Amino acid sequence: MDESLDGMVRWHARHRADASAVICGDARRSYSELYDRSGRLAAGLLATGLKPGDRVAILLPNCIEYLELYLAAARSGLPLVPINAALTGPEIAYILEDSGAALVIAADGLDVPEGLPVIRDLAALIDGGSALEAVVPGPDAVFFQGYTSGTTGRPKGCVQTLGAFVEHFRRSFGLYRHDADDVMLMPGPLFHEAPALFSLAQLYYGGTVLLLSRFDAATALTEIGTHRATTIGFAVPTMLDRMIPAAREHDTSSLRSIVTAGAPLHPETREGTLRAFPTAALHEFYGGTEIGIITNIEHRAGRAFGSSVGTAVPGFDVVLLDETDQPVAPGEVGLIYVSPIMMAGYHGRPQATADATRTLDGVDWLTLGDLGRLDEDGHLYLVDRKSHMIITGGENVYPAEVEAVLAEHPAIDDVAVIGLPDADWGEAVTAVIATTGEAPDLDSVRTFARARLAGYKTPRRVVIVDEIPRTASGKILKHRLRNDLAGGEP
Ligand code: ATP
Repeated sequence: MDESLDGMVRWHARHRADASAVICGDARRSYSELYDRSGRLAAGLLATGLKPGDRVAILLPNCIEYLELYLAAARSGLPLVPINAALTGPEIAYILEDSGAALVIAADGLDVPEGLPVIRDLAALIDGGSALEAVVPGPDAVFFQGYTSGTTGRPKGCVQTLGAFVEHFRRSFGLYRHDADDVMLMPGPLFHEAPALFSLAQLYYGGTVLLLSRFDAATALTEIGTHRATTIGFAVPTMLDRMIPAAREHDTSSLRSIVTAGAPLHPETREGTLRAFPTAALHEFYGGTEIGIITNIEHRAGRAFGSSVGTAVPGFDVVLLDETDQPVAPGEVGLIYVSPIMMAGYHGRPQATADATRTLDGVDWLTLGDLGRLDEDGHLYLVDRKSHMIITGGENVYPAEVEAVLAEHPAIDDVAVIGLPDADWGEAVTAVIATTGEAPDLDSVRTFARARLAGYKTPRRVVIVDEIPRTASGKILKHRLRNDLAGGEP
């Protein structure tokens, strides 16, 4: 029995040849087409002279070929480095350089830094590709080198093997029960690990991926109705916010579950989603590019569990450690460590890998740099990124707590809280505010915050900006804000 990604998709291609594997707009691939084309793609890539282990960088929007490339990687042993094509030229150049990519596959019209071979015509590669000679990389072959979003500094390449991905699929199955009758809407970009992981899990178990070439709330809702989608594979909270207002105008009664993560899920988004999609459970997980899904919680209409990101999924353990690597007491804030660590390391950064890992009682643990709290039932609450913590007058302030309070201020549309260097306080709690109306002044912000928070958490400065910079998944780019406002280090 071959339970590799290649083996499972091959099985569906033989036994359910005409079943829909992927639908994207007007394009559709059956399992037999998908399998045939990914084999030709693998053969075509190897025919360019690449050797197993050579990295192939992808700069494409969501399209069926993107998933064919993932399957080609599983068949050729050529790991993919998926890159967000919306990054700036220097950001893309950094990832290309850091990843050691040997080849770039780029969309037409997209500038690629000089120096690397570029393929733009995938159709020619597929049509010209011969049948694939058997390569069959083993479970230890590197499959994926995805970059973190770089919210805490330079993006880091997380190296993962084919075997790790099969483990991800099993974990996903345990939570979301993929099966051959499922139709999964995938609104998320395939350069992020979670959308890729859930789409490939769907193909692993023989369901249909309903891929959006780019997210747009009206299209997403229409596609759900047209194709009777049963799940929304992965939507970041911002996407849920956009779908909520119009959901009732569409037939979404086929939905049974929605999966979200990546950025804080605010209570209005959680409740709004449950109201807008009354037939669906809302799963929130906590995870990252390094490790996939760590915890999960399932909310249903009338049974929402508050702001916890859930309990560790079966097979995973979570511990919270203090500054001296000792477990913290229940209810105390600590750095979240998880085991097993899944990734094979940060590409080319042994020091960063060592800094993020600890060995306790012979077991290896990894941190994504998030601070959290565990309650007595093992429910995890995210507090903030450790690197975002502000130390002001010797006190620790977690910006996420202050942001949640200020978000309720009637004159504030969007807010980020950061620490700026300050002669008296070390760092001064600073509220960076975007508003479409009249900007609130420092006094009004302070009075509002002080009524709800301890004095030391109350902002000492207010900065008004046009827009809070965010990543595609909705995370605030705090190092950019700090740089812009204080000329500080990233
Ligand atoms: P970098 O490490 O370069 O700063 P990043 O950590 O943002 O990038 P990703 O792997 O894209 O890179 O995102 C993982 C992070 O997303 C987690 O460490 C956590 O901070 C945040 N996150 C994940 N799930 C949730 C969630 N359910 N709620 C809030 N935040 C989440």
